[in-house]
Amino acid sequence: MDGVDAEFEKLIQLQELDNALRQNTAELSDIPRLIQELEKKIQADSEQVVRAKEKLTQNQKKRRELEAEVKDLKAQVSRYKKQLNEVKNNKEYTALLKEIQETQEKIDRLEEEIIKELLSADEIEEEIRQATLNQKNEEQHLRQEIEALQQRKQQLEQEKSLLLKQKEELLPTIPRQQLHLYLSIARKRGGIAISRVTDEFCSMCQVRIRPQMLNEIRDRSKIHLCESCGRILYFDHSEESAGETEDSSR
Ligand SMILES: [Zn+2]
Repeated sequence: MDGVDAEFEKLIQLQELDNALRQNTAELSDIPRLIQELEKKIQADSEQVVRAKEKLTQNQKKRRELEAEVKDLKAQVSRYKKQLNEVKNNKEYTALLKEIQETQEKIDRLEEEIIKELLSADEIEEEIRQATLNQKNEEQHLRQEIEALQQRKQQLEQEKSLLLKQKEELLPTIPRQQLHLYLSIARKRGGIAISRVTDEFCSMCQVRIRPQMLNEIRDRSKIHLCESCGRILYFDHSEESAGETEDSSR
């Protein structure tokens, strides 16, 4: 009976190792994606600075264009003003005055636009300042997160090789037939081949276990599979004796 007991313990141990390995693998395989996301954030922050700077370049370019246009129009106005002295009749004079007025109005509109561009340059400069500050703060913080993930990855890799070593040592000690049973159930049942009996239920699928079967599972006299999910059922005696005043089973 002790022999059978020990095998159950080993199957439980194997399941615990497999569970830990599954968790380890899941977390480990997620790390590259998490690091990539953080790197994308760093990239996005620096792109924001670049975009704001591009905006300022555009603003300055537009302002220079407007200023050049104003300069041309002002030159035109002075040319018109010179022509005023040379006109022969009233009609030409009036027409020229009209031209001067219209050009001056155009200059006024353009100068208003230049002021708008100047004001918006102030805003853009503030935007650059904020984006640069944000980038600096965020990047430091994000790099720390990446560093922490890389450390976690190392830790998980060490943990994984330790778990694999323990599993490698455990496997040969489990009777071949029981191991085969375990593996074939695990393959079909999402990696979980054994199920603890809690009260009178299979803890994995919550199906009630027949009383007679329950006694045999408690005795650990033979392997019983859950009639519903097909997993190896076991009774956790350590939990049962934990509630008693003394543990005489060992
Ligand atoms: Zn079950």
